Amino acid sequence: MAEVAVLALGGNLGDRKKTIKSAIKQIKDLDGVVLLKKSPLFESFAATTEGVDEKAPRYLNGVIQIETTLKPGLLLTKLREIETNHGRVRLERWGSRTLDIDIITYGSEIKSGKRLTLPHPRAYERAFVIVPWAAMDPSAKLLGHGSVAALAEDLKSQVWEI
Ligand code: ATP
Ligand code: CA
Ligand code: CA
Repeated sequence: MAEVAVLALGGNLGDRKKTIKSAIKQIKDLDGVVLLKKSPLFESFAATTEGVDEKAPRYLNGVIQIETTLKPGLLLTKLREIETNHGRVRLERWGSRTLDIDIITYGSEIKSGKRLTLPHPRAYERAFVIVPWAAMDPSAKLLGHGSVAALAEDLKSQVWEI
């Protein structure tokens, strides 16, 4: 059965726009994935484990909505391959990276696993996820947090469209 999922893409190293566009193409080309919607891209300061770092390379982020027959675990595996294809290396937590792809929601699935938590547990408070999502889909709801557009109202000063 096909489910609708929301994915968030972002990066702060290299040609960020080119990387995100190329990653979206690779996601679209996966067997069992159809691209439904794409958000505008937004820039923001880096959030690190030490807080906001205005001196670090800035992030570019966007979200997409897909329809997929891939189960969440397999989808995550495929997304990690696409991150690797774009030069992602994992060093410190929340460190600079060429490409990060997170699964924000997968249908109405709720799970809390070691490898995968759904919906993404930090999505609701992240301007770089919520604001593009609201721009892409003004009527979207986030399980447990209600209207995405309402969440975006409080977060929109932290990101800017480019
Ligand atoms: P954050 O999860 O806070 O956005 P991050 O994306 O920088 O941080 P990563 O190093 O990319 O962190 O991923 C850490 C782990 O998160 C991955 O190994 C993955 O198994 C796990 N994970 C759990 N839930 C999800 C999800 N919904 N989407 C993507 N990865 C997830
Ligand atoms: Ca992330
Ligand atoms: Ca991630």
